[in-house]
Amino acid sequence: MSVCRRIVLRFPKNLVEKPLVYHLVKDYDLKFNILRAKITPEEEGLLSLEIKGDKNNYSRGIDFLTKSGVTIEQLGQKIRKNEDLCTQCGLCVSVCPTPALAIDRKSREVIFDSNHCVTCEMCIKVCPVKAMEIKFD
Ligand code: SF4
Ligand code: SF4
Repeated sequence: MSVCRRIVLRFPKNLVEKPLVYHLVKDYDLKFNILRAKITPEEEGLLSLEIKGDKNNYSRGIDFLTKSGVTIEQLGQKIRKNEDLCTQCGLCVSVCPTPALAIDRKSREVIFDSNHCVTCEMCIKVCPVKAMEIKFD
């Protein structure tokens, strides 16, 4: 299944010069259009992209960027966690490539932090009760 996503990549100063986006094409067979690019006064790099490709490759590519230190924000669609349906099984935490899903040490509940979510939809795929949902703006 293929996906088309609009995302904003934030490169910290030490990564601005590295050709990380090139790996999306070379290693994950993704295509992208640059919508906007700029360097902030703090020398952080901002890159808005439209990315197309296989859904699994997209998730793997996002995982690669996140682990490399790039922060990713999704444009146009958001994931939400339906607390009424969630059974706190933790399956989604094990597949999430970002810190968006985590188990609270005290309560043992699964906490969703949308600020870290990159809408890769891995959690939607594995959730047995369909508690992770996608919403379009
Ligand atoms: S869509 Fe789900 S798995 Fe992907 S980053 Fe967001 S919370 Fe994590
Ligand atoms: S996989 Fe679904 S039911 Fe399990 S913790 Fe995540 S959201 Fe809740």
